[in-house]
Amino acid sequence: MNLEELYSYAKKYGFVFPSAEIYGGFSGFYDFGPLGAELKRNIESLLWKRFVTQKNFVVGIDGSIITNPQVWNASGHTQNFTDPVLVCNKCNSRFKADSFVEDLTSEPVEDLASFIEEKKPKCPNCGDELKFLGRTNLMFETVAGTKDKTYLRPETAQLIFINFKQVMNSFKIDLPFGIAQLGKSFRNEISPRDFLFRLREFNQFEIEFFVDPEEANNCPFFDKIKDNKILILSEEDQKNKQKARKVKIKDLLGKATQWHLYWLWEFYQFFVDLGIKPENLRLREHLKEELAHYAKACFDIEYKFPFGWKEIHGCAYRSDFDLKQHQTFSKTKMEVFDQKKNKRYIPHVIEPSQGIERAFLAIMFEAIKDDKLMISKQLAPIKVGILPVFNKDDFVGKANELFEEITNKGYSAMIDTRGPFVKRYDYHNKIGTFLTITLDYQTLEDGSFVIKFRDEDKLVRAKDVNEVFKLLEN
Ligand SMILES: [Zn+2]
Repeated sequence: MNLEELYSYAKKYGFVFPSAEIYGGFSGFYDFGPLGAELKRNIESLLWKRFVTQKNFVVGIDGSIITNPQVWNASGHTQNFTDPVLVCNKCNSRFKADSFVEDLTSEPVEDLASFIEEKKPKCPNCGDELKFLGRTNLMFETVAGTKDKTYLRPETAQLIFINFKQVMNSFKIDLPFGIAQLGKSFRNEISPRDFLFRLREFNQFEIEFFVDPEEANNCPFFDKIKDNKILILSEEDQKNKQKARKVKIKDLLGKATQWHLYWLWEFYQFFVDLGIKPENLRLREHLKEELAHYAKACFDIEYKFPFGWKEIHGCAYRSDFDLKQHQTFSKTKMEVFDQKKNKRYIPHVIEPSQGIERAFLAIMFEAIKDDKLMISKQLAPIKVGILPVFNKDDFVGKANELFEEITNKGYSAMIDTRGPFVKRYDYHNKIGTFLTITLDYQTLEDGSFVIKFRDEDKLVRAKDVNEVFKLLEN
């Protein structure tokens, strides 16, 4: 299935629609339909459960989308959060210059402006010559009240840094610990593309993990993961044009600290547990020239999309840069005091950053097989399809009873009486319903019903709803 086909599938079955399609859509914005909203929420809930609720050293916050513009001055976004732009003289189309050039050559390009000057690339829309326009900031500007210019947040991370002290002081939590946030971010991409891959409005789940730099190689969970194997495209292998290779986590210690590798492994395992095959996942080490000056190391988790290996998760070691910047700009001390060691220091930060829509896209690609959405039980938008054989009062009455019992337990369900019965199985396969239950004449007599699993042809007669609950339990 290619990207076009996935887009049609997602639209046809009510997962994702172009935003404002009745007005012709709006580039870089999408709306989630009934099934997509469920799936997206499931991804988000699983992330929160796994990385906040179930980790006693991570807490969550929910910061504002619009905040004091000084935040973005301190973080460097006002100055540096820019993309190079190509413009067409004739039709005025604009393109993100680095991605455009990446498609033209496999060689690294040092100077975009002179590369454009020399190669004179043509506009894909009208064929005229493209010119290098310079750089443009990616933040959406807005005005609070009548005169205070500010921005929609381009990432969730900075809201965590500015609340670091508040969380520590109010929640009395000791280092090392993480603060997580889940929510919307906005980037005014020059050329949004690849459906949900590059959006102007999207959702992120980010953790800032604060650690004493002297303790970055002292992760109590490292022993458990150190012999696990993972596919990685290292910096050297990229430079020597070698393929990715499988290594043990501990073999990467020269490149990253224990805590950094711990977080990478945790998110890698998250995707595997959600049903993504390990051979479709790899780490890619950022090249030295890709790293910001303050970052010590950065790795992406990439997924093998039909349009190539692309980043679905990033995890950077950001040193003390962000807290230091906010200390300088706000004149608020960001140091912590370690009583045992009797020292004051600014913590270092490891930042796992997860784009929700990119995870959504990878999960959809991975799950669609033979026109069925073979999605994991936890992710399935509808857990139970309730199918009365006849659309008559006594059947529907029984269906309503079951619907209430199932949804009261927190599982999503759907009563489906539409169209010919045989087509309903097919429909529920396409939308990934985990199991369906069929109500027939015997149901009216003794309350039993027939369970059909999405992933096998087997039919099982079940005595009552408790058998369904057993199957749905994790
Ligand atoms: Zn043009």
